[in-house]
Amino acid sequence: MTACLFCAKPAARGPLCEAHRKRRQRAQVLSLPVRERYQGWSRVVECAIGLADASAEDDREFERAADRLRKAALAYAHELEATRSAGGCG
Ligand SMILES: [Zn+2]
Repeated sequence: MTACLFCAKPAARGPLCEAHRKRRQRAQVLSLPVRERYQGWSRVVECAIGLADASAEDDREFERAADRLRKAALAYAHELEATRSAGGCG
């Protein structure tokens, strides 16, 4: 049995443990209507999941995950702005 890619727990099926497999599935469901402008949002969701998974005991890991989420959120906001000023329909 192999270990989960994100934590040291044994992987249930594939490279992820049961909890991470469910999270991955949920993230995919959230990003299903994939269009160009949702790319950024999918990334925000991924980073939010990453932050939730970050060890609370490891300050550096937690800060790095929080920083990734902040950058993804900013990038997403910029994408929305760009879409709007380019005359995109919402
Ligand atoms: Zn895991």
